[in-house]
Amino acid sequence: MFNTLQFIRVITRINSLKSLALGLLITSSGVVFSFAANADSSQPERVLTSIRPLTLLLQDLVTQAQLNDQFQIHTLLQSSQSPHHFSLRLSDKRQLQDADLVVWVGESLEHFLSASLEQRDSKNTLELSALETVIWPPSKNDTAHNHSAHNDDHHNHNGHDPHLWLNPANAGIIASAFTRRYAIQYPQLVAANKLLQKQLTELTLQLRKLMPARNANPLVFHDSLGHFTSAMMITPFPALTEVPEQQIGLRHLLELNNGKPFSCLLADSSEIAQAKGYAKRLKLPLVSFDLLAGNMEIATYRDYLASIAADIEKCGA
Ligand SMILES: [Zn+2]
Repeated sequence: MFNTLQFIRVITRINSLKSLALGLLITSSGVVFSFAANADSSQPERVLTSIRPLTLLLQDLVTQAQLNDQFQIHTLLQSSQSPHHFSLRLSDKRQLQDADLVVWVGESLEHFLSASLEQRDSKNTLELSALETVIWPPSKNDTAHNHSAHNDDHHNHNGHDPHLWLNPANAGIIASAFTRRYAIQYPQLVAANKLLQKQLTELTLQLRKLMPARNANPLVFHDSLGHFTSAMMITPFPALTEVPEQQIGLRHLLELNNGKPFSCLLADSSEIAQAKGYAKRLKLPLVSFDLLAGNMEIATYRDYLASIAADIEKCGA
């Protein structure tokens, strides 16, 4: 007679056979492009992301797959540090060496990582801006915002806004790339990813309903919300600078003032000090948003994106 324990064992075996079949299916269709087994399977996979929003997203996926014991996901940058100008400390380099997988956006955002990552086996890095399916917002060249000054090319990768994780569709693409990498080792990720994709689509629709209600006309301090506004299907926000450290000329400020009046100056938490003076000169209220998910109460990607939407809502409120 079957007791409960035996029953569970049988179910588990059936499930793992199913998973195996699924893994083979994925491989034969060529979807899995890289697979590196952890040499010691009792050790959790050490995943290091460059910024916290990526950690939140991958943590959502892993939690949904009930694989929290199998993955340790850490973030390299503290939220108070801007990825645009950061340099690695010795302890950061050690973290990079110890990681089984490094997830980063790419050279256009985290220039400081390029040299270290060149020394790694490329199979053990996931460069998000290199994923072919990533969706890019329309080029800014045809908007009112005009940069005649030197465009710092570390932020202006083929004219692309590097803050790609702010589009939930890109979050889905990132989760799928992570799933492909580990699908054979952890087949539970496949179903969890499918569910996550659905949730991300729902999240987009919910946030879109929230956003157009506002007549606000925000001015962004550094050009970082292109992916968000494009996902929300709202007009892109003009920005004061392409990169946070860029100097802003007085004439540019005056030009900005002559257009349609802005409701506020939006600045991410790491650049508030810098933005304060400009807000004063432009006579605009300063509203901060949490670009790098520095608020530790935010524990999921969903909460993160909702917080960005809520902060934008404060502009002109
Ligand atoms: Zn930025």
